[in-house]
Amino acid sequence: MVTPPGVSHEWLRNLANDWRGWVGKQMDQLGIADPGELRSPSPSLPDAIALPAVDETWYLLQRYAPGSSARVRESGPRTLVLSGDVSDADACRRALVRWLMRRARETLPGMLAEVAQQTGLVYREVNIRAQRTRWGSCSSHGDICLNYQILFLTPELARHVLLHELCHTVRMDHSPRFWRTVARFEPELDARRAEMRRSWSLVPAWLQARA
Ligand SMILES: [Zn+2]
Repeated sequence: MVTPPGVSHEWLRNLANDWRGWVGKQMDQLGIADPGELRSPSPSLPDAIALPAVDETWYLLQRYAPGSSARVRESGPRTLVLSGDVSDADACRRALVRWLMRRARETLPGMLAEVAQQTGLVYREVNIRAQRTRWGSCSSHGDICLNYQILFLTPELARHVLLHELCHTVRMDHSPRFWRTVARFEPELDARRAEMRRSWSLVPAWLQARA
């Protein structure tokens, strides 16, 4: 430390100690965060989340709040605020998945109902799940499960997944008859099936990463 002429280290140290408490109190009253507690936002999280299936892009703001666990809330049009301990990337990811599940529950059932109406295919119930290896499933009772990650597919592929599960309400297997049923409602079936082989690559890497 370099001090001006005539000012001793000792004197400066005492001054700093005297003022430290006062400065802290002022910062508390003004609501200014202690700079010592700031953390840089997690670089493994995105600035924006694109959901092509529903034609939405959400911007993600991070607000560090020490001592509270990560949570996500919607704030204004297409803006998400991630608050809490944003340095805990895994907890942030879990909070974002909870929001994505919510958004999927708000959007995918309506899309399924629309495809059902267009095709005349009848299902009983729809549930949104976090599945690792499947886009969806259909029980013999006509209950359909959809993976929330359908949100990351193109609109064409998302419709294709919904149609696929709806066609299982008439055929449970993947026989030629099943695919003929799908083809009745999907004129570009070959192209869709080829795109589906690469579909998992549309899920963003930050969601798949494990810290
Ligand atoms: Zn299937």
